[in-house]
Amino acid sequence: QLQKPKLILDDGKRLDGRKPDELRPMKMEIGVLKNADGSSLVQVGNTKILAAVYGPREMHPRHLALPNRAVLRVRYHMTPFSTDERKNPAPSRREIELSKVIREALESTILVEEFPRSSIDVFMEVIQADAGTRLASLMAASLAVVDAGIPVKDLIAAVAVGKADGIVVLDLNEPEDMWGEADMPVAMMPALGQINLIQLNGNMTPDEFKQAMDLSMKGINIIYNMEKDVLKNRYAELKEES
Ligand code: UDP
Repeated sequence: QLQKPKLILDDGKRLDGRKPDELRPMKMEIGVLKNADGSSLVQVGNTKILAAVYGPREMHPRHLALPNRAVLRVRYHMTPFSTDERKNPAPSRREIELSKVIREALESTILVEEFPRSSIDVFMEVIQADAGTRLASLMAASLAVVDAGIPVKDLIAAVAVGKADGIVVLDLNEPEDMWGEADMPVAMMPALGQINLIQLNGNMTPDEFKQAMDLSMKGINIIYNMEKDVLKNRYAELKEES
């Protein structure tokens, strides 16, 4: 699509039928891969991410090991079939940048000092991309890290907010991400009230920014409760099995 469509329709709803303050449907599962130490599948609308965690394990190559903490290595990757047009499977500049951005956000949640000389490796595969892949990947990684039994300060809950046709909206879809006036991904550790990642593409007035922050906190709270439920259900399942 080459021309900007109307993003907010006459009835005040968005192209996918949501109200401005509504989240997309979400699904989260952990322990989905048998060969990884931890894993998860996260779906936010049509965005689907698979995450796998290995470690903490001995660092290879050894010279990269640190004496006082674990090293976190993170790869965000889009499968060739995840986007409208086939994506070249070779890592793009965007994927290299997002891998770094996600690593920095995830690192502050993990108690890396407990695992000197070791590595924790996190892989995220975007299976289907429909806006918000960096945040869905970050949440998938956070859940997979916990599934691997790695101690964390808190889970990461995240959502993008932005502006479409002058209206502040929660959890941007692809047309809003592409054509909207602003796109602001926010990720945080809700129990600690700490923000792990915030980026802003586009423009908002100070008032709109405040409105967007409030809206993101509302979304993050809902998502955080879903994440905790997923973990509780998983542990209840494991307890029944044993
Ligand atoms: N996208 C795409 N091909 C690409 C990169 C992105 O189709 O090579 C789409 C995809 O749906 C993605 C959206 O554009 O979710 C927005 O990308 P952005 O860089 O803003 O990151 P994201 O919102 O996924 O974190």
